Amino acid sequence: AKKLGGAQFQFYAQDMNLRTLDRLKLEAALRHAVERDEFELHYQPQLDMASGVIDGVEALVRWRRPGHGLVPPAEFIPVAEETGLIIPLGDWVLRAACAQQAAWRDAGLGDLRMAVNLSARQFKQQDLAQSVVQALHDTGCAAGRLELEITESVLMEHPDAATLVMEQLSDMGVKLSIDDFGSGYSSLAYLKRFPIHSLKIDRSFVHDISCDEDDAAIASAIIALAHSMKLNVIAEGVETGQQLAFLRREGCDHVQGYYFSRPLPAAELALLLARPPGQ
Ligand code: C2E
Ligand code: CA
Ligand code: CA
Ligand code: CA
Repeated sequence: AKKLGGAQFQFYAQDMNLRTLDRLKLEAALRHAVERDEFELHYQPQLDMASGVIDGVEALVRWRRPGHGLVPPAEFIPVAEETGLIIPLGDWVLRAACAQQAAWRDAGLGDLRMAVNLSARQFKQQDLAQSVVQALHDTGCAAGRLELEITESVLMEHPDAATLVMEQLSDMGVKLSIDDFGSGYSSLAYLKRFPIHSLKIDRSFVHDISCDEDDAAIASAIIALAHSMKLNVIAEGVETGQQLAFLRREGCDHVQGYYFSRPLPAAELALLLARPPGQ
């Protein structure tokens, strides 16, 4: 039994080495990816429920890694977070998204709300507000068109520091939204205290909205809560007509999901924007 254990250990250790190696390669490649301009943003439309018009987009980063194709964020954002590379990457995302917002506006395609995801590490940067000011200034995107998405867990971790940063951003006119709302724990008292503009109902509740009574109840409660606090509410992960019908009945303000469109490269999103509504 001991021998077998040894063999198993060796097998495991080899496997570990491989994984460590992959991880080191990933880190090294990621380290140069910003300088080499290997990232791109895809944009997923957000529709105003009442008019059916695309009035915003969420910017979602992808990595065109040589030899690996288009890498989804789940495969590199956590590593970027751990290594601190998320700071230069996040700054690139912010600038690229703001520049795109201004470009579409100047091309007459609409003055869209541009939603950008912020990671925990970025949010803890003392000079976050300064980076945002700089990005807006350099790109010509209006502060009021930028919406920063932050998850509940990030807010709840350091509520005092979070309040300060959010107030700075909010004073500049930048909008703030809580991403994946309902999936973590949030204190309703904090909701009142943070200068938040909108709540984003987590995809997991939207998924079973039309067949699971509990999820339907949670989604309805989030919409009612948001409205009672005069917040905008947006549902993500809308994939079916039934989900949309439910959200419409409950008065959800904005919707986003595969039912309307996947996240698209800028050029493809521009085609959607150029199309008259309803077509
Ligand atoms: P998220 O912020 O919750 O973004 C929504 C994710 O749901 C996106 O995945 C989007 O493609 C996907 N999605 C949209 N509609 C549907 C739908 O109808 N059904 C389903 N099943 N999924 C849908 P994506 O692009 O792979 O991004 C995953 C996560 O990576 C994001 O989750 C966000 O947490 C993170 N992320 C993406 N871009 C950035 C970024 O620039 N900075 C940071 N810090 N995180 C990012
Ligand atoms: Ca998001
Ligand atoms: Ca989300
Ligand atoms: Ca999510």
